Amino acid sequence: TVSIVLFTSDLRLHDNPALRAAQREADRIVPLFVYDEGLRSTGFAVPNRLAFLADCLADLDAGLRKRGGRLVVRSGDVVDQVHRVARETGATRVHVAAGVSRYATRREERLRAALGDTDCRLVVHDAVVTAVAPGELLPAGNDHYAVFTPYFRRWAAAGVRDVLAAPRTVRVADVTSEQVLPRSEIGGVSPGLDAGGEDAGRRRLRSWLSGGVAGYEDGHDDIAGDATSRLSPHLHFGTLSAAEVIREASREGSSGAQAFIRQLAWRDFHHQVLAARPDAAARDYRSRGDRWRTNEKETTAWLEGRTGYPFVDAAMRQLRHEGWMHNRGRMVVASFLTKTLYVDWRVGARHFLSLLVDGDVANNQMNWQWAAGTGTDTRPNRVLNPVIQGKRFDPGGSYVRRWLPELADVPDRCVHEPWKLEGLDRAGVDYPDPIVELAEGRARFEQARGA
Ligand code: FAD
Repeated sequence: TVSIVLFTSDLRLHDNPALRAAQREADRIVPLFVYDEGLRSTGFAVPNRLAFLADCLADLDAGLRKRGGRLVVRSGDVVDQVHRVARETGATRVHVAAGVSRYATRREERLRAALGDTDCRLVVHDAVVTAVAPGELLPAGNDHYAVFTPYFRRWAAAGVRDVLAAPRTVRVADVTSEQVLPRSEIGGVSPGLDAGGEDAGRRRLRSWLSGGVAGYEDGHDDIAGDATSRLSPHLHFGTLSAAEVIREASREGSSGAQAFIRQLAWRDFHHQVLAARPDAAARDYRSRGDRWRTNEKETTAWLEGRTGYPFVDAAMRQLRHEGWMHNRGRMVVASFLTKTLYVDWRVGARHFLSLLVDGDVANNQMNWQWAAGTGTDTRPNRVLNPVIQGKRFDPGGSYVRRWLPELADVPDRCVHEPWKLEGLDRAGVDYPDPIVELAEGRARFEQARGA
């Protein structure tokens, strides 16, 4: 017998329930990845994520080869390709991880329908992408939790499933494969992009647990110290399993590890919101009837990191350079766009998705809505002041100076407010004046919101 494992957001051999199930029931498996042209046409296949994906697939193939197998790669419509591989190999089952986006659930429906006229059945596995499956924890009278704290209480009490070992050997059915698109052939990649792959993810996890996580509670907002795990791209591509990361962090046991696990619960929280409300990927989760401003000049300044607010600009330039941004930066730039400039959150979400290596619909769209006040934030009218945030979370200005070399020689007292420099000092700094007064932006937002 043959079973297909369709890899999607679970590009790993360790702790992979879909792979385990296929291995258990079949003599041979087809570890299949499809370059899905449908996904490409949604604009989701951007250079940074394609480059990271190339690493992931190369590493997945290497891991399978070490175990006597190999990865099977196809391109085209994912449903056609699975159907074809099933026919070619006589497979009787297709295993896939459950997804939460509309795209993923539609893919499941289409697969089920396409396999309907064959002897092959689709098996969808929960709690592969997230640690706790969306819909597993429900409040009374609702199909999802809309507030994080009560969700977290239940989530923490529920615990996560057991972690599965990677298979020792893999026997792959005889079937043709295309090549993995090499990373070197992908243009437009951010120069500071991290390496992908399960091996890289596991190494990062180990060094994080031995060297970083203990200081997380105190250090996670120290933006210059860069003291977060940077595991988000691995969690996004599933080169690490969220369940395994949580289990390993719990064993570490420090208060830093507890704070870190709480952040992973946010990931599950946003996934269960999107699973219940897939429309929230594009529409306001809570409609307020905002009449967003359109101002091309200000929006372009935000996109290019030229707003005149160093903390905002530094973060936007980090995003372009690394395909990643620190969470504090994400919160501040999102508040600046959607509240200070009062520009539609979708404009920012789209830009993030065009660059973020960890960019995904659940975390990105729901965090943008959270920041804009249209989502699940229980204080939707708070506005983050980028000067105060900068002084608080980058007190020495080293984050700002790292990404804005033009401010390298500005004294600490002015590094978050370079407009306070006087005379020749100001003239010698090639950095724009603020595009908007913060007080004016705040007043406009509060008036629009009736706050
Ligand atoms: P750590 O601080 O080490 O946290 C560990 C893990 O917890 C992260 O890898 C992530 O999986 C999870 N996590 C932490 N914070 C959040 C959060 N607020 N929501 C959901 N999960 C969280 N995260 C993404 O993975 N993809 C996105 O597209 C994304 N877009 C965002 C957009 C905005 C406007 C904001 C404010 C946040 C966004 N985040 C997103 C959440 C968060 O900023 C990143 O997960 C985090 O910065 C990744 O860095 P890290 O792995 O070092 O995080």
